[in-house]
Amino acid sequence: MQNITIIGAGTMGNGIAHVFALKKFSVTIVDVSQPALDKAIQTITKNLDRQVAKGSISESDKSSALKNISTSTTVEQGASNADLVVEAATENIELKLSIFRKLDEVCGPETILASNTSSISITKIASVTKRPDKIIGMHFMNPVPLMKLVEVIRGYSTSDIVTESIMQLSSKLEKIPVEVNDYPGFVANRILMPMINEAIYSLFEGVAGVKEIDTVMKLGMAHPMGPLQLADFIGLDVCLSILNVLHSGFGNAKYAPCPLLVNMVTANNLGIKSGRGFYEYTPGSKELVVASGFRKN
Ligand code: NAD
Repeated sequence: MQNITIIGAGTMGNGIAHVFALKKFSVTIVDVSQPALDKAIQTITKNLDRQVAKGSISESDKSSALKNISTSTTVEQGASNADLVVEAATENIELKLSIFRKLDEVCGPETILASNTSSISITKIASVTKRPDKIIGMHFMNPVPLMKLVEVIRGYSTSDIVTESIMQLSSKLEKIPVEVNDYPGFVANRILMPMINEAIYSLFEGVAGVKEIDTVMKLGMAHPMGPLQLADFIGLDVCLSILNVLHSGFGNAKYAPCPLLVNMVTANNLGIKSGRGFYEYTPGSKELVVASGFRKN
């Protein structure tokens, strides 16, 4: 595998492109938005600069990684030569199904089509293609250049050979792949999201305030970040959509999103990306300024 196409130039797409390009793959990033592509190249450059400054890569690693990346605004142009496509577009099932229908038409019959989805069924995505054995989940974690895990999700029809090749490829990227089956939320979000939801319920019911809940989980459970700060980092809209997938996928009330989360998303309080979630942030930065208030009994 040499030619890798990434669909979506957002937070995850630029990180995935970054790690493939550093390992000398030829990478094409496809996005419908030219400004998103321009911003992705700027972000990758800034993150590579940071690695050079830390001494983890050389100046020449940086410039060859940047030379390995090209961009396109169409799937036809950007994916027709791909050996592997990693889709990292917006988390919306109809959008993903239409992207995979198009990829199935445009790409060669041997091309493996992976999705970085956080929660959408790989089996469902595979069902709209003529190559269900070559559809797989490749779930990178944010920030991609730093996080070691790749959750490799086998759809119902994914073949052993495709799974093995994605496991090996992830190891080549110096990641640690873990194979899981395709059920709602896979493993990472099935466990993480109920914890975040319970933290939001604890706030909603007045058990404790934002800082108190996060401090208990940081100091008590040795988590590097509290669940409410982590929710702001992931995006409250993303958390809500994953909880909705768990709730409808299992039909179990224990996954129902907390009404406070629903209200915050409706009010566009989405976390870092909108400047306000459970914490407030200085515009354009991840620095938190203050936590939302807490009514004491
Ligand atoms: P994002 O909103 O930052 O970026 C999505 C990009 O997709 C945007 O640039 C948008 O222009 C582009 N896009 C939309 N429609 C497109 C199309 N038809 N063709 C090409 N590009 C298109 O989103 P993100 O946070 O990078 O998430 C991307 C995927 O990764 C989602 O499936 C998400 O669930 C998953 N994911 C996100 C995180 C996270 O922490 N943000 C972690 C793991 C997985």
